[in-house]
Amino acid sequence: MSDTKKLFEDLSGAGKSIGVLTSGGDAQGMNAAVRAVVRMGIYVGAKVYFIHEGYQGMVDGGDNIEEASWESVSSMLQVGGTVIGSARCKEFRSHEGRLKAAHQLVLRGITNLCVIGGDGSLTGANLFREEWSGLLEELVQQGLIDEEAAQNNSELHIVGMVGSIDNDFCGTDMTIGTDSALHRIIEVVDAIMTTAQSHQRTFVLEVMGRHCGYLALVSALACGADWVLIPEMPPEDGWEEHMCQKLSENRADKKRLNIIIVAEGAIDCHNKPITTNHIKELVVSCLGFDTRVTILGHVQRGGTPSAFDRILASRMGVEAVLALLEASDSTPACVVSLCGNQAVRLPLMECVQMVSAYVSLIFCRSFENNLNTYKLLSYHKADSELPNSSFNVAVLNVGAPAAGMNAAVRSAVRVGIKEGHKMFAVNDGFEGFYNGQIKEITWGDVAGWTGQGGSILGTKRTLPAKHLDKIAEQIRIHNINALLVIGGFEAFECLLQLYEARTSHEDFCIPMCMLPATISNNVPGTDLSIGADTSLNAIVETCDRIKQSASGTKRRVFIIETMGGYCGYLASVGGLAAGADTVYIYEEPFDIRDLQSNVEHLTEKMKTGIQRGLVLRNENSNENFTTDFIYQLYSEEGKGVFDCRKNVLGHMQQGGAPSPFDRNFGTKIAAKAIQWISRKLKESYKDGKVFANTEDTACLLGMRRRTMAFQPVVQLKDETDFAHRIPKEQWWLKLHPLMKILAKYKTSYDVSDSGQLEPVTRVRPKKAD
Ligand code: ADP
Ligand code: ADP
Repeated sequence: MSDTKKLFEDLSGAGKSIGVLTSGGDAQGMNAAVRAVVRMGIYVGAKVYFIHEGYQGMVDGGDNIEEASWESVSSMLQVGGTVIGSARCKEFRSHEGRLKAAHQLVLRGITNLCVIGGDGSLTGANLFREEWSGLLEELVQQGLIDEEAAQNNSELHIVGMVGSIDNDFCGTDMTIGTDSALHRIIEVVDAIMTTAQSHQRTFVLEVMGRHCGYLALVSALACGADWVLIPEMPPEDGWEEHMCQKLSENRADKKRLNIIIVAEGAIDCHNKPITTNHIKELVVSCLGFDTRVTILGHVQRGGTPSAFDRILASRMGVEAVLALLEASDSTPACVVSLCGNQAVRLPLMECVQMVSAYVSLIFCRSFENNLNTYKLLSYHKADSELPNSSFNVAVLNVGAPAAGMNAAVRSAVRVGIKEGHKMFAVNDGFEGFYNGQIKEITWGDVAGWTGQGGSILGTKRTLPAKHLDKIAEQIRIHNINALLVIGGFEAFECLLQLYEARTSHEDFCIPMCMLPATISNNVPGTDLSIGADTSLNAIVETCDRIKQSASGTKRRVFIIETMGGYCGYLASVGGLAAGADTVYIYEEPFDIRDLQSNVEHLTEKMKTGIQRGLVLRNENSNENFTTDFIYQLYSEEGKGVFDCRKNVLGHMQQGGAPSPFDRNFGTKIAAKAIQWISRKLKESYKDGKVFANTEDTACLLGMRRRTMAFQPVVQLKDETDFAHRIPKEQWWLKLHPLMKILAKYKTSYDVSDSGQLEPVTRVRPKKAD
């Protein structure tokens, strides 16, 4: 790697041709990836070609290879599957097939390929590249191309993107389509839950995953399933009795329904497949429960892509083009992917080898993490078997409700009980705290909480500073030894106030932890907060509907106002996922000249085939340029060219059932927090008393790039803009230009930390304290 700083402006695709194809099984989000590749490719001055029907189209050539235009990828962001077609292609597996494909590419001078597919497709791509120079020689020998053509096309660059709902690709955190598939599964489970509740039924649900139990495991975690069976973890002999015992215990615990999730490829320890019908028969014969089987099938591949998949695919598409521009003969073909929150490049060959060696995914950290959390939360031991720590831990929600808060409370309560603590629930935040609304909460009390939106405990914005004496008194009355506060920016302020009050009130010298939970995603010390993903999905779905309402109506621009306080996360990232033309956020000041150029931009757009516009405005983006003002300005300036409509999204952004990600994020982060609390309690217990007054005993647990980190709240003060209630630095601002590029605006994009190839094994996130 050279030391000179890479500049986005220096990257040019002039004279280059990029072919993009989707291959193998389809996945939601593939279209978003294709759109991003096409637009980014055109943006940097390259020619981009669709290769229809996967490798088959490449082998056959003709109309299958077609030049793409900016408009040709319009309105495909929200469409599931793949618009350019995908296929399984036998011919490409043979040398002859690949020879034909090479010929088709050389004919058009396409020497850059972007392959979106699963491990099979990427294995094929890798082979193709390795053979490339040999294939060219053969083509010359056969007289199909001349020496000059061979010379001009001597280097083939390949970048892969993993599109597969199974999330079965080693080295990547998330593959394109997985999050959407989880959405589909959870929608079905939620629907089944309501009918199962009414009839006291047991449901056996089969989800996709022939070799990989990721979908099964993660959905089991997200819906609190009673039992899960996956190929990576064949159950030991005797599992049948074990499972039935568990089901009947759960019933006895007042649970009216049971859910068993089975991956398609589930096997027992003798390699024998475990079928849903077998499970049903077992439950009926052993327990006599009314049992139904549901096989989800292709529903999981269907529907619109989730917000996360659109963002993932858009980011990866842009990264893929950058990687192609930077590729040389000496750089290996790579896969672009996301690790934690960061775009990374991995050597294609290594990824493919890992897959073919079938490194069981059980070794992947993410998989293991999900598995451990699931185990922790699903098996309830008898009280007599539990350790007794004799510590009391209180849990409360602060600030506005956010989807996933309940999942976090459930997980905290259950993990706390397992660690031997007595768990206390506080109603209505610190207001309830000083009023003494504190009660013990048990394992069964939190059953079914993962899927519930809002805050069941009740939440208030009240800060503790004015009520310190009363709060301290309640801590003494209930002998509270540690606090877990779940909430947004207020929760952060609360923890700071309690930390600062330690000097005057010894009662606050106990371990305290806060988990970020707010739709606005404006808490310092974390890249993401619980609830933001659900809200993004709500925004994106609504934008889809609003956009669709204009079909048939010519030339319309929608101005949509989103929440977030001063934080532009929802507007900016929502805009990227919904395909907005312009986004107004507080973090990026704008003036009348910007507004003017935005209107002109839309006027130009209306001259093309695309005749609708989408403008997102964060509620506090500008005091004077209000949503009404912008609406009126666009209406006036657009007269005769387009008309305008205005929508303020409001509280729909705060409601709804939590997304799979928020359920699991809440669940996992809360489990981690309680384990930390247990450790801190032990460390600070001396002479029959808990005493914790150091900075590192009042922490925020957040997700930072690739790690989960406990950060003392006082240390986060410097990173915070208290006046506007946002962190001083926000990672997602780096994504803001992407939305502009994809909307055809000239802008700059930070490419300085992309480009390094990382070995597959090193990519797994490090364990933080
Ligand atoms: P996925 O990409 O979803 O794993 P497949 O395994 O069916 O799906 O692969 C898709 C296509 O990729 C195949 O139809 C074939 O054309 C190509 N392909 C897969 N494996 C190879 C291989 N080992 N060599 C060459 N081409 C391959
Ligand atoms: P982990 O236990 O590693 O967090 P997951 O399988 O739940 O495992 O997720 C893998 C990674 O993908 C996470 O680190 C997270 O950053 C990212 N991710 C997955 N889904 C989403 C989503 N809907 N929104 C934001 N990030 C997501």
